[in-house]
Amino acid sequence: MPYPYKKMTEADFDAIRAFTAPERVWVGEEIAREYYHDEMPEYGVFPPELYVEVLCRDEVAAIMKYAYENNIPVVARGAGTGLAGGANCKYGGIMLSLMKMNRIDPVDTQNMTVTCQPGALITEVAAAASAAGLFYPPDPGEKTASIGGSIITNAGGMRAVRYGVTRDYVRCIEAVLPDGSIAHFSSNVVKNTTGFDLKDLVIGSEGILCICTEVTLRLIPAPNCTCTLVLPFESLERCIDCVPALLRLPFVPTAVEFLERELIEIVERTLHKPLPVREGEAVLIVMYDASSCDELTQCCDAAAAAALDAGALDVLLADTPERIGSVWSVRAAILEGMKADSIGQEECDVVVPRAKIAEFVKAAKKICLAHGVRVEPCGHAGDGNIHTEMLRDPGMTDEEWKSATHACLTELYAKSKELGGQLSGEHGIGNGRLEFLQPFVGDTVYGLYKNIKLAFDPKLILNPGKMVTFD
Ligand SMILES: Cc1cc2nc3c(=O)[nH]c(=O)nc-3n(C[C@H](O)[C@H](O)[C@H](O)COP(=O)(O)OP(=O)(O)OC[C@H]3O[C@@H](n4cnc5c(N)ncnc54)[C@H](O)[C@@H]3O)c2cc1C
Repeated sequence: MPYPYKKMTEADFDAIRAFTAPERVWVGEEIAREYYHDEMPEYGVFPPELYVEVLCRDEVAAIMKYAYENNIPVVARGAGTGLAGGANCKYGGIMLSLMKMNRIDPVDTQNMTVTCQPGALITEVAAAASAAGLFYPPDPGEKTASIGGSIITNAGGMRAVRYGVTRDYVRCIEAVLPDGSIAHFSSNVVKNTTGFDLKDLVIGSEGILCICTEVTLRLIPAPNCTCTLVLPFESLERCIDCVPALLRLPFVPTAVEFLERELIEIVERTLHKPLPVREGEAVLIVMYDASSCDELTQCCDAAAAAALDAGALDVLLADTPERIGSVWSVRAAILEGMKADSIGQEECDVVVPRAKIAEFVKAAKKICLAHGVRVEPCGHAGDGNIHTEMLRDPGMTDEEWKSATHACLTELYAKSKELGGQLSGEHGIGNGRLEFLQPFVGDTVYGLYKNIKLAFDPKLILNPGKMVTFD
């Protein structure tokens, strides 16, 4: 297969400058170190040979055509907040930043959609929707992620329990293919059986099939009111066992997250963000949205009664923006808190059937502790997407940490499979989970992945060595 790639020369640098502008091109040592990796340097630190900021689709197309003809690898870059080692130049070549392509068109209130370029931030798109009285629900934990990155990774987030994931809000995508040609995947229609659904194939393709240059997103009516319940439990087991009782109620929660006391203390200690509940070894944070105050009261009453029945020690209601904000800011600060509290992190992002959450969490703790690894399972209890966070203690050598976490991951993925789960619920494969994908999905499915990659990118120049490899 066509690795190795062409090493870029001055002539190649000049060609990219000619397609764009010299002041938007950086080469070699001029490139800032932050572009060598995404939010997980553990999953790869690789210098690009050239970093370019593009302003329009035609610049992307010209660069891709040139790269394709000259066998130069290209990696699209959004905000670099990915957690899979996706936005790095594993084989050198060009890093192409979409962040300056950030136009958001006026909201189309007739179709209830908004069209934007990939560099717009999720928060900016959500704000544009809100200003038009509408709502863009996808809400991954990192608010500075780009809309393009979130579509190409099919980001999930807290509100998936009620509203689903990013995929559920994409109407159509404009993209540049690896050879520089332009493709439109679907259009601004509600349903579509016109040929294969390539739009849904491209969503979640982790930048290995095409570069998204424009997207139209579905918006929905905004809920009128929201509140958050904080439910402490004496043990993690009781906390997790309460989740099915909440999900069986006739009110669908917006979010159901769980945290253990140790993790709350890490966030309080390192970032000074206190959770307004002191008791309990584990805590559920449950959010409800509703179209009226009456409906919201019914949701909260039913959830509080179900939680107390299931052993909750107390029910704290956060119903003002300040109190709601202070609760969710603790949840949002987990990754930052763990980074401040340990010298290295490894993460397992499995998703299991909701009925198996408690079983997986209990097994995950056992597995990691058996390998001497400090572990903090947490996350999206409402949709079965458990983030098993492993933290490195200073006493561990590089070798000990690597082999212990590798052993943990192998067993955690096996457990997820045994329970009918999947390898990744929202963070994807990238470079970090690559070696585990083929054994998990099996040769037949992995063979299809490879053929799909080849159909889009026969020269393997777009984000090579991610998700599928040909080594
Ligand atoms: C604190 C924190 C919390 C997070 N919480 C969540 C969460 O709750 N749920 C969740 O799903 N994720 C979460 N993430 C992960 C991350 O925010 C998402 O994956 C996000 O959508 C990535 O967007 P980005 O712009 O940073 O993409 P990047 O990291 O820049 O890129 C991600 C991948 O997409 C490709 N890519 C980027 N833009 C394009 C484009 N326009 N065309 C083609 N390919 C492209 C890149 O090549 C790369 O493979 C979290 C991250 C952090 C740091």
